[in-house]
Amino acid sequence: MKKETSILKDTLGRTHTYLRISLIERCNLRCTYCMPEQGVALSPKSHLMTYEEIFTIAQLFVKHGVSKIRLTGGEPLIRKDFPVILQKLSSLPITLSLTTNAVIIDKHIDFLKQYGVASLNVSLDSLNRERFKQITLRDDFEKVYKNIHLLVKEEFKVKVNMVVMKGVNDYEIIDFIKLTEQLPITVRFIEFMPFDGNKWNRDKLVSYTEIMNSVQTVYSEEKIIRLQDAANDTSKNYKISGHKGSFAVISSVTNPFCDSCNRLRLTANGRLKNCLFSATESDLLTALREGNPIEEIIQKAVQAKFAVRGGMDTREKLEEPKLHTQNRSMITIGG
Ligand code: SAM
Ligand code: SF4
Repeated sequence: MKKETSILKDTLGRTHTYLRISLIERCNLRCTYCMPEQGVALSPKSHLMTYEEIFTIAQLFVKHGVSKIRLTGGEPLIRKDFPVILQKLSSLPITLSLTTNAVIIDKHIDFLKQYGVASLNVSLDSLNRERFKQITLRDDFEKVYKNIHLLVKEEFKVKVNMVVMKGVNDYEIIDFIKLTEQLPITVRFIEFMPFDGNKWNRDKLVSYTEIMNSVQTVYSEEKIIRLQDAANDTSKNYKISGHKGSFAVISSVTNPFCDSCNRLRLTANGRLKNCLFSATESDLLTALREGNPIEEIIQKAVQAKFAVRGGMDTREKLEEPKLHTQNRSMITIGG
């Protein structure tokens, strides 16, 4: 029987089949581009979704056509009931994946395999231990680096996310590409995006064009192969001829991909965000706890989705600090 998709279709005809669920607002790293220096005001534990509530809401989205769920955070692996959440969600007919900093992923390999997680996105912003420490405020480079190799050895499909920041880690673009020579991973260079408290400014942005220019200083045009992007892909994909892995650029700032967006986001305290950049949220958890139907709230939220970046349809608007503070910090959205 064909699944009902109408409540997840917006006014521009975009159908939302991909739900990203943030499991937790806390993290074991302190990435400066993600988390404000002073930390974030955490929701009281009782305001966070329990694993049963996560399952109930996820089930409803799947009933209406969601076919892919990504678990994120903060850091999803530090949630104590992570294996239970995974087990519950694995009973749904979906592709289940995870975005993690991989600091403690070695302890979860068996669960991930058991519950059908085949691909993961891992954040790693530097291949230099000191630089890693400066960015994340924690000395965990060795663990993450080893764990990426472990994931590859265990045959997970791994995408490494690197947020490129001028004067911070942009000089490492080629080192990350060299990683793909022997490792069958995809390195994704992400344009630094503005969120509440992350001290974003235009000068720290390394654009898609600048990233590709760096690549071209080392590799000739014939060596850089443009790959076919998957449907709804947020990244522009490439490969260096002869390398086992590939690389990509996610250009949300200079080249947004909103036309084909199929994503919705559920925060750890049960709010639906119709866009990464949206200032408004819809409270599903309170309605669920009060025994009220949540489909109508979901439908309204989807219908209210802006055409481009939560209404920030120009670079000027995106670069306006007042608008950044109307959104959450990335740590409580989850990417
Ligand atoms: N802790 C997990 C991790 O780091 O992968 C999951 C949560 S993290 C918020 C999800 C993704 O958001 C990471 O890949 C991170 O690099 C990305 N991210 C965080 N802040 C960002 C920003 N300001 N611009 C671009 N990407 C950002
Ligand atoms: Fe934590 Fe991920 Fe944010 Fe870094 S990017 S602080 S690992 S949630």
